[in-house]
Amino acid sequence: MDIQSDMPIQLPVAGESGRPANDARVHLLGLTSPDLRRWMGEAGHSPYRADQILEWIYRHGVDDFAKMTNLSKALRDWLSEHAVILKSTVTRMSASADGTRKLLLTWPDGRSIETVWIPDTDRNTACVSSQVGCPVGCRFCASGLTGVERDLTTGEIVEQAARVRNLIGPEARLNNIVFMGMGEPLANYDNVIAAIRILNAPWGLNIGARKFTVSTVGLPKQIRRLADEELQLNLALSLHAPSDDLRKELIPWAVPIEDLLSACEYYFEKTGREITLEYTLLGNVNDKPRHADKLAQIAGRLRANVNLLRYNPVAGLPFERPDAQTTLTFQERLRDRGVNAHTRRSRGDDIDAACGQLRRAALSAGGA
Ligand code: SF4
Repeated sequence: MDIQSDMPIQLPVAGESGRPANDARVHLLGLTSPDLRRWMGEAGHSPYRADQILEWIYRHGVDDFAKMTNLSKALRDWLSEHAVILKSTVTRMSASADGTRKLLLTWPDGRSIETVWIPDTDRNTACVSSQVGCPVGCRFCASGLTGVERDLTTGEIVEQAARVRNLIGPEARLNNIVFMGMGEPLANYDNVIAAIRILNAPWGLNIGARKFTVSTVGLPKQIRRLADEELQLNLALSLHAPSDDLRKELIPWAVPIEDLLSACEYYFEKTGREITLEYTLLGNVNDKPRHADKLAQIAGRLRANVNLLRYNPVAGLPFERPDAQTTLTFQERLRDRGVNAHTRRSRGDDIDAACGQLRRAALSAGGA
């Protein structure tokens, strides 16, 4: 049975998250419905109770066994002893004037990650992390500065969405999940896919597969594997540079663009889902007309949309945000070449919106 009990703890920081670091209770958010039924059955409880528990957790947003009023007191006590719903503690939350909220979640081992809720007129998006830190180390990114500490478990990924769902409240729905937080999701492949299946399940958060976006710097083998999952996920490729030389300078994990493109073509053939190219514009680095021309060729070959993002400067890193006119000129040049290009609105500029910045601020203040 694939139960996600707590991982061995490397650096216990007792009390930091408000829970004992060696808490070995089963994290229910990491279990599928069949796993939970089996676990309950093996412990001598009716598997039917599993359905009721899942309903409380995912339909009603309940994170306290005491509130599961259709379960017996004995079962609720047993659950409290052997299982846990939420494992993290919200150690910081910042709210932007545009409604974006950024959470710093701390796990029982003292590790912290970031999760963002981005409300919009017609949808609520959770931007979730897949690892603590990131192994890729993109030169312009705060998350990559300190490397990766560990993968997140399935339950820890699901919990981020559950936290956002609970913040939104019952009046609206969480309907969009983007894997654009800390970490390279395809480097924690199994846990990310397991979490997506839970969030997508009718007994889970029931979020449509087409409402998930997996953003990757591009691991060709994993992109092909993702294509074979028979899930209709959106794939966003963080290109950031249209040539191998420049890309290698910016992204230590860069593979030849040709390899990436053929993996993306395979993804499109298998899933029929359009690819999005993510391109962070770095002032005077990758924002020249020649870069736009090359990017247009790549987008044309993949029939991909292009999302441009103006860089959010990170203290201590030598990259600049391009001005608005340069960004517009770059976008228009792509459009003139037939590319569906948009400049993504930066959300939460006033709250250290660039990925990894809140955690970094907390780390340097000794707070997480
Ligand atoms: S930009 Fe993404 S892939 Fe690159 S270091 Fe940051 S989190 Fe990792």
